[in-house]
Amino acid sequence: MTPENRQVAMDQLVSLCKRRGFIYQSSDIYGGVQSVYDYGPLGVELKQNLRDAWWRAMVREHDEIVGLDAGILMHPQVWVTSGHVGTFSDPLVECLNCHRRFRADELDELEAGRPDEQGCPVCGTKGKFTEPRQFNLMFKTFMGPLEDESAVAYLRPETAQGAYVNFKNVLDSSRVKVPFGIAQVGKAFRNEITPGNFIFRTREFEQMEMQYFVEPGTDEEWFETWKDRRRAWLAEIGLRDDRVRIHEHAEDKLAHYAKRAIDFEYSFPFGWNELEGVHNRTDFDLSRHQEASGKKLEYVDAPTNSRFVPFVIETAIGLNRLLLAVLSDAYHEEEVEGETRVVLRLKPSLAPTSVAVFPLVKKDGMPDMAESIVADLRQSLSVFYDAGGSIGRRYRRQDETGTPFCVTVDGQSMEDGTVTVRDRDSLSQDRVSADALRGVLQERLRGPLGE
Ligand code: ATP
Repeated sequence: MTPENRQVAMDQLVSLCKRRGFIYQSSDIYGGVQSVYDYGPLGVELKQNLRDAWWRAMVREHDEIVGLDAGILMHPQVWVTSGHVGTFSDPLVECLNCHRRFRADELDELEAGRPDEQGCPVCGTKGKFTEPRQFNLMFKTFMGPLEDESAVAYLRPETAQGAYVNFKNVLDSSRVKVPFGIAQVGKAFRNEITPGNFIFRTREFEQMEMQYFVEPGTDEEWFETWKDRRRAWLAEIGLRDDRVRIHEHAEDKLAHYAKRAIDFEYSFPFGWNELEGVHNRTDFDLSRHQEASGKKLEYVDAPTNSRFVPFVIETAIGLNRLLLAVLSDAYHEEEVEGETRVVLRLKPSLAPTSVAVFPLVKKDGMPDMAESIVADLRQSLSVFYDAGGSIGRRYRRQDETGTPFCVTVDGQSMEDGTVTVRDRDSLSQDRVSADALRGVLQERLRGPLGE
């Protein structure tokens, strides 16, 4: 395996994320809470850049796709109608010896057999599993001061239902015509039986979903279109081609609402796993909501006056999972002048910091010039100023967080007004006039690897 293809070990990534302020364990000072994570200063920036990239590709670049931000709490009937109260569950088994709980379907896949014929993955005891029982993954809470059945509410397990219950609102208030889409980014909650693999599977996460409403009969073609568009986008944000593959769901494995579904799987450090799904949800959700609410959720096609309940093609990706894929993909270790350099080769436009600015030494007017460069660059770029430590150490720190450019103000800068610009990937340095710097950096960020 070449260094380019080598996978980062999960613990290296977790350690980098903590050390450099991308991701921390939640409630660390109390011993942490299992599989909940907090995003630190750089994690927040990277997450924001990924969210923005998705929003630009899915909303801003399409006349016919509009945004929505629906509430996390919805009318409880939504989840009855959607089928989540009845069927959004995983089969749970417990080992009667060590009392650890597992998803029976995951054990099956792991052990390629019935779980009770195999040993418990934790204590190894055989034949001591309980019968599988369906465990509903929705978090329940109460709305208002009464804690009784009439006050039960759920934290949404997917953002999609917000788009379905607002279908009519969007149709009546904007000038969209079928085919059109509603895109949404927001938190979702699932009481997963076996969360894990760092931020891959957590109980609280963020989804980026788009529901595309189409005329029945055109759904299969639109499914292909969105499959291709989403594959192209994953390449565009820089994920290596050989680490993305398509998994087609077998008919007997389809979700209750789906006519067809594929996953884009990514080769995570712990193996191939789902990153994004594209689903043909048919008219299942709109028809069910129409029936349960008594409100017409039809589309009237103006020229022909024909009426129909649209079919929905959904694209659904987890922002946190995407962030994990992007970090795993970007992580590289290489030998430079006899030392190991850790570098995150993030696509420059996604990097939490676009440019770091250093005065070579803290004297001779260099900090003043560096600070005025920072003030100028800040108007359009995300900038970090660092005056402490050896220049080599400052470069290494930026490499580890994926900063594409480092600008250094040195002795020559004080004489001729030029600064050095160091490139994260090629390690080349060239001199640029400080006056032209902002334009030059913007140009490079927009270059072949930039946007
Ligand atoms: P899985 O099979 O991994 O449980 P799913 O098929 O139930 O996922 P979807 O309901 O299609 O997932 O959700 C769309 C996307 O949301 C997934 O592709 C994934 O990126 C993300 N996602 C789902 N569950 C979680 C979770 N528990 N933690 C983080 N991201 C998640």
